[in-house]
Amino acid sequence: MNSNSYHYPKQANYRIEIIIAILTFLGVCFIQNSLDIRTVFQIVLGAIGNVAQFIRQSFETIIINPIVEMDGSDMVGVLLLATAFSLAVRRVRQYLTSSASGACACPSCGEKLHRIHRTRGQHLISKILCLDSACLHCEKCDYNSLLFSNKVAHQA
Ligand SMILES: [Zn+2]
Repeated sequence: MNSNSYHYPKQANYRIEIIIAILTFLGVCFIQNSLDIRTVFQIVLGAIGNVAQFIRQSFETIIINPIVEMDGSDMVGVLLLATAFSLAVRRVRQYLTSSASGACACPSCGEKLHRIHRTRGQHLISKILCLDSACLHCEKCDYNSLLFSNKVAHQA
C-alpha cells in the first residue's frame, strides 16, 4: 500500500547515482581521450537513435508482423473468435429480449411502470447490441428497469 512512498526516494537516489556515473564517465573521457563536444553529441544522438530504432523494430515484430504475416491457420482462428463473439452477442440479445417480455408491472411492488429517459450509458448499450431499449421506472418504490426489444426492420 505504501510501497510507492517507500520506493520513490530509492528511485530518486538511484537516478542521482546514474547521473554521477555518467558525469564521471564523461569527465574521464574528456580528460583521457580529449573528446570534443561534437563527438559526445554524436555518441549520445547515436544511442538515442538506436533506442528509437529498437522500439520501432520491437513494435513491428510484436504487432505489425503478426498481422501482415498472418497465415491460413491464424485466419481460421480469427474467424472462429469473430464467430464466437457474434454468437455471444446474439445470445446476450436473446437473453435480454426474452427476460424483458411482459415487464409492464413493477416486479417488487406490482405497480405500473412508467417509461423514463434513458441514461447515456443505457443508450450506448442498446446501440452496441442493435436493440431498442426503454427505461422503465416505478414511481412507488423507485425501481428502474432497462427493457430491450428487437428493432423493427423496415420492409423494402
Ligand atoms: Zn415498484
